[in-house]
Amino acid sequence: MKLGIIGAGISGLSLGQLCRGSMDVELLESSSSYGGIAKIRTINETPYHLTGGHCFNSKNDKVLDFVFDEVLAKDQWNHVRRNADIFFKKKSIPYPIEFSIKEIHQFDADLAFRIVRDFFSANRSKSSNLGEWFKSQFGETLANEYFIPYNEKIWGMDPFSMSAQWVHDKLPVTDPKNFLEGLIADGEDTMPHRHFFYPKSGNMTTFHDALAKNLKIRLNSPVGKIEKRGAMWVINEQLEYDHLVFTGSLKKLPSLLKDCSEEIVTAAKSLKVNPVSNAFWSTKGRETTWTYFPEEDSLFHRNIHIGNFINPQTNHSISEVVGNVSPETLKEEGRKVPYLNEMLDHHYAENAYVVFDEHYQSVVPKMKQYFEKNDLHLLGRFGEWEYYNMDVCIEKAFELKDKILRVC
Ligand SMILES: Cc1cc2nc3c(=O)[nH]c(=O)nc-3n(C[C@H](O)[C@H](O)[C@H](O)COP(=O)(O)OP(=O)(O)OC[C@H]3O[C@@H](n4cnc5c(N)ncnc54)[C@H](O)[C@@H]3O)c2cc1C
Repeated sequence: MKLGIIGAGISGLSLGQLCRGSMDVELLESSSSYGGIAKIRTINETPYHLTGGHCFNSKNDKVLDFVFDEVLAKDQWNHVRRNADIFFKKKSIPYPIEFSIKEIHQFDADLAFRIVRDFFSANRSKSSNLGEWFKSQFGETLANEYFIPYNEKIWGMDPFSMSAQWVHDKLPVTDPKNFLEGLIADGEDTMPHRHFFYPKSGNMTTFHDALAKNLKIRLNSPVGKIEKRGAMWVINEQLEYDHLVFTGSLKKLPSLLKDCSEEIVTAAKSLKVNPVSNAFWSTKGRETTWTYFPEEDSLFHRNIHIGNFINPQTNHSISEVVGNVSPETLKEEGRKVPYLNEMLDHHYAENAYVVFDEHYQSVVPKMKQYFEKNDLHLLGRFGEWEYYNMDVCIEKAFELKDKILRVC
């Protein structure tokens, strides 16, 4: 049995590793290297993550065992403690904000009072949209002052016109007892990525190389045509596979598939994805792992102090902005941040955040059903059109492997 996987990002590579013992596996990748949006360029001996600053962790033991036992041994990873901060009301306060009310109280006692009052009086019932969901979970003040403006930046749209359906178990929520502990003691939050792993080599590419080991990958091989001929999948009129997995963009898939239904072609047009622009900086040095910028006065939504992920540390950070932002504007924004020195590189990624707008709920399940019925398997952040981190891509690769092997 021959398995074709379109895309050699984390999802394609993981599925390839999981299936290569049972099937003849081949990956087709349009670009000249593997890694997808988790790709890295090394500058000044520091890993410049072209899209964000990928750190690894998982709540799933199966994923952790796979990564540490079969891909890159655990002793090859540093265990790093997240030490993030938020630039809020022109002050640096520790992340997460729900545990920094004492710090807010020091510069604005009234704001701290309103946060606490509204947190405990929030009506934690069902909410009809994302904006209402933030109010229901965190209270009016934290929602209005922090969560809603930050999410407006990430999604490039009003959270009140976004679905709240996807948010459950994706965004961490602090329950009132935990919040109280944060107020009266120096308790630590229990959120994901409180600790994370980063390769001891000082570069996440080591992980990608280990994931790609022994895989047959055709680089520089963009898939422009997918066709089902009898029982076989035919790619670009020349390659044949018994099973096919697509990890590229669900929005683009209907235009690649011969004889795709018109309804699905039209549905795909309504899917929205946000691009991200990144800049890589030399800095004066920071103590934290990353900094959030929730407020309107900065275009950046996050600066990742990537030099602190590695040993020996270097003074470098990566800035993220949603949208297609010119290098001149990135430089301009950088001047507002006192610890940033020189912009050394920049990058634009067309696909970064799938948007959960009003079309999402009606269109995505319909498209998934259509491709499933046609035995074209979807996988990954853009293949499945979900808010997946690397660990969830691996988890989903496990599920898909089982499904494919069941029908073999
Ligand atoms: C800003 C940002 C920060 C992030 N930070 C983290 C983090 O800290 N930790 C974490 O775990 N996750 C993080 N993530 C999520 C993580 O990047 C993704 O979950 C993961 O990289 C997605 O991998 P994928 O293989 O599903 O998709 P992709 O990486 O998009 O891979 C798909 C591949 O398919 C190829 N392809 C597409 N179309 C075709 C075609 N027609 N023919 C051939 N090849 C094709 C593409 O070139 C690409 O290589 C972050 C994401 C973003 C946007």
